[in-house]
Amino acid sequence: VDPTGRKDRTLERFKAAAQEAGVKMTHQRLEIFRELATTEEHPDAETLYRAVVRRVPTVSRDTVYRTLAMLGGLGLVTPLGPQREGVRFEANQEPHHHYVCVECGLVRDFESEELSRLRVPTAVTRLGTIEDAHVEVRGLCARCQRGREKPRSPSKSRGTSERSTS
Ligand SMILES: [Zn+2]
Ligand SMILES: [Zn+2]
Repeated sequence: VDPTGRKDRTLERFKAAAQEAGVKMTHQRLEIFRELATTEEHPDAETLYRAVVRRVPTVSRDTVYRTLAMLGGLGLVTPLGPQREGVRFEANQEPHHHYVCVECGLVRDFESEELSRLRVPTAVTRLGTIEDAHVEVRGLCARCQRGREKPRSPSKSRGTSERSTS
């Protein structure tokens, strides 16, 4: 289910960059990257470890953490902003944006040429350099909405600003 071939390109880019950097492409490293490149979950290191160890039982937690750091150094993996449960990672290096659920922490990619064309205001350069920019849309995901529909006490009716619908 990859009509745009993005995951294939991600893997090809990975192999080329690793070769160029002289990084030895072990089976474990490839599987760690493959797992990250094929999931939409933007997992943290622990979640990624648990997914990889199912297919590669010999992989250690330490190897996953060190591989993530190494891939980050090569610019092949992006650590996302700090979250409650720890730093999350992704392998998708193509321009895209994020939908983030404020309740369960779900993160999903979406593409929008319109948003990718947005120019960063020049005022931002006063804060520091700009490597890239993406839009984060926050809201309550469909699953969490269904969970909330179950009638609890409707006492919290004052702030409705947290619901973003665009
Ligand atoms: Zn949610
Ligand atoms: Zn993403």
